[in-house]
Amino acid sequence: MYDDGLPPLRDVINEHGLQAKKSLGQNFLTDLNLTGKIARSAGDLENSIIYEVGPGPGALTRGLLMNGASRVVAVEMDHRCIDALAKVSDAYDGRLTVHEGDAMQMDEASLIGDTGGKDVHVVANLPYNVGTALLVKWMTGENWKPWFKSLTLMFQKEVGERIIAEPRTKAYGRLSVLCQYRADCRILFDIPRQAFIPPPKVTSAIVQIIPRDEAADAPKQKTLERVVSAAFNQRRKMLRASLKGLGTDPIPKLEAAGIKETARAEELSIDDFCRLANQY
Ligand code: SAM
Repeated sequence: MYDDGLPPLRDVINEHGLQAKKSLGQNFLTDLNLTGKIARSAGDLENSIIYEVGPGPGALTRGLLMNGASRVVAVEMDHRCIDALAKVSDAYDGRLTVHEGDAMQMDEASLIGDTGGKDVHVVANLPYNVGTALLVKWMTGENWKPWFKSLTLMFQKEVGERIIAEPRTKAYGRLSVLCQYRADCRILFDIPRQAFIPPPKVTSAIVQIIPRDEAADAPKQKTLERVVSAAFNQRRKMLRASLKGLGTDPIPKLEAAGIKETARAEELSIDDFCRLANQY
């Protein structure tokens, strides 16, 4: 059992009146053994900087700090959590810096500032209502490699399965392609509903996403996104029909990419999508 001298999470939640708000996607973890396990799965905490979105009462934050994180930069939107987090920062000699605000609006690199040459790892139990939007924000920059070395994120398991899905499966879609074409993605382990206050409706999963170097023939991110969105917006249709919305005749482009015009979006591999996007 861990003890960092701070009160147990359940007491922090009660003392600070942190009743979970659905509108902020709040489900709080309380077990520091579990958050310690999540923290350690993120890699070398001592020699990197951790960016955390939504620390809430601080369970994952404390897991990170207890396991040696030298610096944690966190963004929390719920003003009610700020006092509780200040106590965590004090207990850990200021290794934690908390910014109050909306993570969707943050320019992460400038918020983190000088890294002293250290890598930045993102570790977060994301609010389910903006989790996917944040992931898309981080994965769709035109410049690659990005400001982070890895993302270790908790999602609803169903979202994790969409991120890692393979072609010809129901879960395969826009999110799978946008993540996998430039990063290695895997599910590390599941987190049961009972680990949270209040318990969410579904099981969660820790997903790890590690950016790769950009391939020399990688398509432009925006172009890939347009093609993938058009293809999956009408996933039951053949590509010769679903891609018409892109404005030009798709048939020669499909032919040049070596893809059958009768194929459907979910049959295309990530490489197929990249070759196709390079025709646009
Ligand atoms: N990390 C804590 C834990 O594991 O117990 C809390 C996780 S809870 C699922 C999500 C947290 O994200 C909440 O504290 C919520 O207030 C915060 N949050 C929600 N939307 C946010 C946003 N747009 N920007 C920053 N934080 C946000």
